[in-house]
Amino acid sequence: MIPLSVPNISGNEWQYVKDCLDTGWISSVGSYVNLFEEKIAAFTGVKYAVAAMNGTAALHLSLQIAGVGYGDHVIVPNITFVASCNAVRYCGADPIFIDVCPDTWQMDLELLEEFLCKHTYSKSEYNQDGEEVFYTSNLFTHRKIAAIMPVHVLGNMANMNRLIDLCRKYNLTIVEDSTEALGSYFGEKHAGTFGLLGTFSFNGNKIISTGGGGMIITDDESLAKKAKHLTTQAKTDPFEYHHDETGYNYRLVNILAAVGVAQMEQLPKFLERKKAIDQYYREHLESDHLQFQKITEGCTPNNWLHTIKVTDQKGMIKHLLSNNIQCRPFWVPMNQLPMHKTYLYYQHRDISNQVYNSCISIPSSTNLTDAQVEEVVRVIQSFK
Ligand SMILES: *Cc1c(COP(=O)(O)O)cnc(C)c1O
Repeated sequence: MIPLSVPNISGNEWQYVKDCLDTGWISSVGSYVNLFEEKIAAFTGVKYAVAAMNGTAALHLSLQIAGVGYGDHVIVPNITFVASCNAVRYCGADPIFIDVCPDTWQMDLELLEEFLCKHTYSKSEYNQDGEEVFYTSNLFTHRKIAAIMPVHVLGNMANMNRLIDLCRKYNLTIVEDSTEALGSYFGEKHAGTFGLLGTFSFNGNKIISTGGGGMIITDDESLAKKAKHLTTQAKTDPFEYHHDETGYNYRLVNILAAVGVAQMEQLPKFLERKKAIDQYYREHLESDHLQFQKITEGCTPNNWLHTIKVTDQKGMIKHLLSNNIQCRPFWVPMNQLPMHKTYLYYQHRDISNQVYNSCISIPSSTNLTDAQVEEVVRVIQSFK
């Protein structure tokens, strides 16, 4: 079976993990955690990076730190992995789903603007310093829209300039689900650096992997401190068990950070390989009946997971699997999941459902051989 997306362990992983085991620094404190954070911060061009045990924990904490609380709303694209919405729910907030674009598969900013214009109104409250601050409220629920979470689906991005302009106009805080987008840029800026906070995942199928792991990035020192504080049980004293709020045990352990450091050393190589595979697939497969994700103008994607859009999705999946090629359909749209049935879904033509019923992710691992990539192309071409 040619796998869909598997880790590529071909650098210093063994050596760094052995170092942890030899020295006994295997747990939540250790030099690799700091080093991994420094490497992510340097690569993405932010001031601070805070490691977390996975991308979902990073998303949850980022939302909490951004001020999302009980009874609030968070705007999320309707096509995403369920973890985005779970993080919203952990904060006691309810998502508002916005439909996606038929070609880029990112949140439709046209629809977003229409929603904000027609279905929200501006309100104000006084902050701790006694200043009046404005926010946007939903016209039906009269609840605050505390944040918007763009998701850089498959490493592509929406037009971030336009999104930022909209968010300024409507006083919306951006928390980026950039978990799939390590190595992606919009203009000169790395994914995850447009919002107040950005997040990464190092799950087994992501572009680099620590088995399980995550990261929060930000340029705001106080938010970074807060993130680190909350990932480590909000302890205030290194000796006494004193804690000043309800924290979490969300810290990434040193032994996994060691894998992360070794993976970061290989990221440029992984990005190059992903790009070469993507080009090969597009050159040999693109036709009137088979499309790839359209890359938004201005975006340089990391080409994380190669995905095709076809008319006979079920037939193609059957054909691929029977030829030993692993593939996956896209996520079930968020509005179709049972626990999300009552949430608002803003759409005109339910593009999400069309994307769900036509897209298939195909082998994308950086350690695929050229022969395997050619085999995938041959099998797809042979589908009648
Ligand atoms: C992978 C992923 C996450 C969650 O990351 P984990 O590390 O698996 O918790 C969240 N959102 C999206 C879009 C993802 O692809």
